[in-house]
Amino acid sequence: MTLFEKIIARQIPANIEYEDSNYIVIHDINPQAPVHLLVIPKKPIPTLNDLTDADRELVGGMFRVASQVMRNKGYTDYRAVFNCGPGAQQTVFHLHLHILAGRTFQWPPG
Ligand code: AMP
Repeated sequence: MTLFEKIIARQIPANIEYEDSNYIVIHDINPQAPVHLLVIPKKPIPTLNDLTDADRELVGGMFRVASQVMRNKGYTDYRAVFNCGPGAQQTVFHLHLHILAGRTFQWPPG
């Protein structure tokens, strides 16, 4: 069971911003910006590399959830990031979209 599955199952506590039948949005425990959310599908897909055509709607919904949550929080400017694989600093192998806001960002991200 991944860390995020344990959070979804309430075996590990988390600061939950939003939840519905398909997604949970939590505050990152080690925030890299004043707002740092993780949009997590409840279906345990390890990485972007593991997506299939059957996941198109689920992944599209991650962005819709992100935009709704951020609108509700009053943010129109934010960064949305997937880390895919260890070389890109993915550490939890359960698909998640990082949403960061509340500071000025640099590009390229490094
Ligand atoms: P990644 O490195 O892209 O796989 O992102 C995993 C994220 O999960 C990191 O930003 C961690 O800070 C975050 N994280 C790890 N443990 C927890 C936890 N218990 N609750 C919330 N976020 C966590």
